[in-house]
Amino acid sequence: MITPNMHYADLEDSYLFYHIAQKTNAYLREHPQTRLLRMGIGDVTLPLCGAVIRALHEAVDDQAEKERFHGYMPECGAPFLRKAIAEHYRKRGVNLDEEEIFVSSGASDELGDILDLFDRSSNALIIEPAYPAYVDANVIAGRKIIHLPSGEENGFLPEPSPGAEADLIYLCSPNNPTGAVFNRAQLQRWVDFANRNGSIILFDAAYEAFIEDDTVPHSIFELERAETCAIEICSLSKTAGFTGTRLGYTVIPKALSRQGMSFNEMWIRNRTTKTNGVSYIIQKGGAAVFSEEGQRQIFENIRYYKGNAELLMRAFDHLGIWYCGGRNAPYLWIRCPNGMGSWEFFDYLLNEIQVVGTPGEGFGSCGEGYFRFSTFASREDTAEAARRIVRLLEKA
Ligand code: PLP
Repeated sequence: MITPNMHYADLEDSYLFYHIAQKTNAYLREHPQTRLLRMGIGDVTLPLCGAVIRALHEAVDDQAEKERFHGYMPECGAPFLRKAIAEHYRKRGVNLDEEEIFVSSGASDELGDILDLFDRSSNALIIEPAYPAYVDANVIAGRKIIHLPSGEENGFLPEPSPGAEADLIYLCSPNNPTGAVFNRAQLQRWVDFANRNGSIILFDAAYEAFIEDDTVPHSIFELERAETCAIEICSLSKTAGFTGTRLGYTVIPKALSRQGMSFNEMWIRNRTTKTNGVSYIIQKGGAAVFSEEGQRQIFENIRYYKGNAELLMRAFDHLGIWYCGGRNAPYLWIRCPNGMGSWEFFDYLLNEIQVVGTPGEGFGSCGEGYFRFSTFASREDTAEAARRIVRLLEKA
């Protein structure tokens, strides 16, 4: 009889969003007329920009013509898109060979699939609070996880420390859920630490487009010697509203190897075995993101979300509540007022002002006592939520 992968039994119930849905649905059953202000959403709400829509339409028309029709695409990505991405990095001072860029269907897929590159006996360091997929993908693979808690004392940006010498090190900057960002010096210390110990950093740059401080690197490859210790996983989901369209890219330098094995070559082998590439139409849409017009348009959308962040930051500044994020990320991570627990604060906001956010405890136990607000809601809902939060907490 076949033995299933028993590591699935080690997964903890992903209760966070399920539990949020249960509580909000129960509230709505009792108060059917209520319109909830959903400030917990991790999905974008603005549509794809004009340049992308035009490119998608043109690509659909290509598929209708014998001369312009495209069948299978190269497994590692269309040359036109790899070139556009390499050019995008070059503008930031990072020189990549196009063959170091792999087009993907998004960061989630890559965060799971990339683990194929490492022996199952390798362990993984996860800084918490963390995006839940990091833990779950490693549990499924049966890997040992080293949890590194972070907190207000280090701005949720821990330094490398004894005990953190894992084989794999997950870094996410700008961070989900905390919105915290590593500056150049902090990130360089992680790069040097990884190089010293032979670790590989999996750098999740899904939110890099939200960075506005010049001192904050968008890519780990802006740091010295990162090409010998890092893989970067990127996504157009939040950058350009591709959450439902699906497109991302992963950078694996040719200089990255261990024990005579090149991770770049291994990933080519992996992709050519396990995928048949991303659709031509979607890659055409993706290439439009990197055009001058596309860049201008996606930043209009990002500015809209940043306007929402501004409203929330102003509210918490006014209330004197500690938070991080908001400036370089689409999330604000606040300390729950009056010593409330994460779920206690969730219930309080839901019952008193019909605002829904995300309890920090759902991202790891050190998130207890904190709460995440997203800036992806509409301006109207965000402004109203900020007003209600101020009114409620001013009198609390
Ligand atoms: N990484 C982080 C930190 C995220 O927050 C998300 C999505 O919310 C992803 C990766 C997944 O992105 P994608 O939509 O490209 O799968």
